[in-house]
Parts: sequence; structure tokens; C-alpha cells
Amino acid sequence: MENVDLHCHSRASDGLLAPAEIVLRAQGLGVTTLALTDHDDTSGLEEATEAAHEARIRFVPGVEISVTWKGTTIHVVGLGIDAGDPLLAEGLKRVRGGRTRRAARIAEALAGAGIPGSLEGAMTYVKNPDLISRTHFARFLVESGYARDVGSVFRNYLVSGKPGYVPHHWSELGDALKWIRSAGGIAVLAHPARYNFTREELHRFLAEFSDYGGLGIEVMTPNHTPQECAMYVALAREFGMLASRGSDFHGPGESRVELGAIPQLPDGLKPVWKEL
Ligand code: AMP
Ligand code: MN
Ligand code: MN
Ligand code: MN
Repeated sequence: MENVDLHCHSRASDGLLAPAEIVLRAQGLGVTTLALTDHDDTSGLEEATEAAHEARIRFVPGVEISVTWKGTTIHVVGLGIDAGDPLLAEGLKRVRGGRTRRAARIAEALAGAGIPGSLEGAMTYVKNPDLISRTHFARFLVESGYARDVGSVFRNYLVSGKPGYVPHHWSELGDALKWIRSAGGIAVLAHPARYNFTREELHRFLAEFSDYGGLGIEVMTPNHTPQECAMYVALAREFGMLASRGSDFHGPGESRVELGAIPQLPDGLKPVWKEL
């Protein structure tokens, strides 16, 4: 049976496993098509491509780009990208630079809240020196006993209104879409229910996303409740968008849902992987 997973992370961003380990794990779990979509970075794709070739599973090179749209952080997944595209590579490099600068500000904010040394602490979890994420801070805070798991670090420290939160401006929506298209990829809106949009905002966003050439929407994701999945299934039909499916797997123990362990797409949708 076909099992397509088009969203997951390796330690090239904030995942726990090496790219080849992700591929082998996916194969062992019966995934037939896998996309690796690290945050703002493509350095894991070569290793994953080789591993997938040997493991004989279909591999789709991807990336998950951080965007700021009207003050909200949005994640856009690019699928079937050419990582060597200079426009994409330069754009992502800029976004990673912003991450590094943000990390220093997060550490200052945490120090102000009585938690010293968090940048050095987070760095011990960073495997790609070019890519630091809140997840790395979260792992350090758990290790240091400030919280019992990564989820509670986010709830208590790293989100808006909490002591370790700092606002940040990511890339522009139009730029991210330009990079993905320049690299020959298909842009998919990741976990749409995460943004707490009103219906009106969501429609406005999707109209803009389509204008910039965005084609897909992730409907099956563990970030959604079954009701939310149903709502985005309806929306994908209404807007005639391509539909995607992804586990957003980050690592054993940290992710509740395994690679490929998400519901199949319902009938009547256009699967994005048929276009890749
Ligand atoms: P960043 O892009 O550095 O701001 O970090 C965002 C990442 O943090 C996401 O990709 C998730 O991996 C992780 N994350 C965000 N919110 C949560 C949460 N509530 N619980 C656990 N991990 C989260
Ligand atoms: Mn992540
Ligand atoms: Mn995301
Ligand atoms: Mn993700």
C-alpha cells in the first residue's frame, strides 16, 4: 500500500536523527514516498537522497520555510526543490542568519528571567552549526530541569507572553514562494490550523498564497484534530488546491506520531505527490 509522508525533520534542523536514519526508519515503517523538509535548510538532502536510493524508497527533496505574514509566523513547505538553486540557497541563508541573531536575543531574555547560559546550552544540541531553533533551547531547558518535556518548555517559556519569547521577522511570503518556484518546487501551506486564523484571515491568506503561486495545503498532519483535518479537506476542495500529508516527525520520544503514521487522504482530493 502507498504511504506518503511529505513533512519531517532531521538534525540538519531540529530533528533528532541523521538524514539517512530518517530514511531507513521511514522504510522500516512502510513509507513508500518520503520528503525531508528541514527548517530553512537543505543540507540534509544529499545524504537522504543517497540513503533513499539504496533503500529503494521514493525520495522528494523538500524544505520548510519560515515566513512572517501580517505579524504571524507561517510555515511553507517546498516540495521537489532543487537545493542547488542560487535564489533559494541565498534566501535560506538569510533566514538562518536571522535565526542565529534571534537565538542571542532568546538567551538574553531567558537570562533576564533567571536562566543563564542557555545559548551555550542550546548549542550542545545543535548538530548543524548554521541552524538553531527554539527546539534546541527547549531540549536544554528540559535537561536543566526547568521543565519536564519539550512541550511544556514551549507553553511556559518560548511562546508569546512568556519570558523566553522574542518576536522575530522571518522571510516575506512572496520571497519564500519565489525561492521555491525558482528551485522548481511546489509550495504547500504547512499545518494551516496552527495559525489561529479567523475564516476571513485564512481566506485572505490563501488568496495571497495562490497569487504568489502557492498550490498546496497540508490537510493530514498530527498538528490537526480530526475536525480540523475535515475542515481543511473541504477547503482544499473549495480552493481546488493540491492536498498534502505529513507526520512532521522530529524524533523518537519527542514526536507523538511516527513517520507515515497519519490518516490517508480522503477521496476527491488532488494528492500533491501526483504532481511531483
Ligand atoms: P522555531 O522555528 O525555531 O521558532 O521553532 C519552531 C519549532 O519548535 C517547530 O518547528 C516545532 O518543532 C517546535 N515547536 C513549536 N511549538 C511547539 C510546541 N508547542 N511543542 C513542541 N514543539 C514545538
Ligand atoms: Mn521543528
Ligand atoms: Mn512547522
Ligand atoms: Mn515541520
